[in-house]
Amino acid sequence: MTSIAPPNCLSQVDATEGFTQFRKSVERPPLLQPPHPVPRPTLPPLFDQPWALPSEWLELVEERTSDMHPEMGGGRVLVLAQWHAYLEARALSHYKETRNAFEGVHQSSRLSAGLAHGCVSPREIWYDTFTYEQHYGANESTYWLRFELLWREYFRWYSRASDWTLFRRSGPADRAVSGDQQATRFRAWREGQTGCDIVDAAMRELRQTGWMSNRARQLVASHCIYESGLDWRLGAAWFEAQLVDHDVASNWGNWAYIAGVGADPRGGRVFNLDQQASRYDPEGVYCNRWLSR
Ligand SMILES: Cc1cc2nc3c(=O)[nH]c(=O)nc-3n(C[C@H](O)[C@H](O)[C@H](O)COP(=O)(O)OP(=O)(O)OC[C@H]3O[C@@H](n4cnc5c(N)ncnc54)[C@H](O)[C@@H]3O)c2cc1C
Repeated sequence: MTSIAPPNCLSQVDATEGFTQFRKSVERPPLLQPPHPVPRPTLPPLFDQPWALPSEWLELVEERTSDMHPEMGGGRVLVLAQWHAYLEARALSHYKETRNAFEGVHQSSRLSAGLAHGCVSPREIWYDTFTYEQHYGANESTYWLRFELLWREYFRWYSRASDWTLFRRSGPADRAVSGDQQATRFRAWREGQTGCDIVDAAMRELRQTGWMSNRARQLVASHCIYESGLDWRLGAAWFEAQLVDHDVASNWGNWAYIAGVGADPRGGRVFNLDQQASRYDPEGVYCNRWLSR
């Protein structure tokens, strides 16, 4: 794997070392901060033209989108509305406790699609968390959102350093792994018909909404690789086709990590699915909701 050092504010960091090394390099005093987000530039006046100016389109879009439910659409206006509602509800102060749940209002920030599509920048979210801390106080949860943004950042550099090896079966780590591409097992997994309730519920949620929580993503990936015995790349490709927040680096980096061919120093993650289901969905509310559809 090629070693690629990130430029600018992360120039002292090598993404080919593990995440912990990466994070420590960023957090070691003096803390490396990303540059402040750049304000939207003022554009020069356009030539006379028969069609509307971009600023007029924006007014139209804002008018149209202001009535929509924040969770129902995309674009910067809605992503920011949802993010500000999350902050106003002070959900950030509990983020670390809620982020592992499968669902729930303000269970996590729901920023991923906005970030993946460039509607908001990680830098502005990063600095918003500091402003929030000034108003409502800092705690482990407020820090933890930045910690997760660092995972995102890490996977971006990791994917650049890994180049095409991120997409081969043996991954950037070049480790031999089992797993086949058997059609029946793959169909059962992707359609939520494996017989494992927590996996089937999550896969149905993915198919119907294009989203699932981080915990659910880890569990279905673990099932795909270690229970269904499939080539991990089939799972990554299915996620790529389904996720509304698909991001090449985060998706393939996380899949390779769980498959043990990526950045995990422990060499892969096998989850005990029954234990996880009883811990994070003890009453079976989440399972019942999606299995009944
Ligand atoms: C197998 C698998 C595939 C994934 N595929 C994607 C993907 O295609 N696109 C994507 O954005 N995330 C992916 N993730 C990471 C994570 O699951 C989602 O970012 C998160 O669930 C989105 O919800 P949120 O915005 O409410 O996250 P929050 O928990 O509120 O986190 C805030 C932000 O931090 C970043 N983040 C959080 N966790 C991770 C993580 N493990 N890796 C990288 N960044 C993270 C995201 O940008 C997220 O929006 C994947 C995780 C796994 C296990």
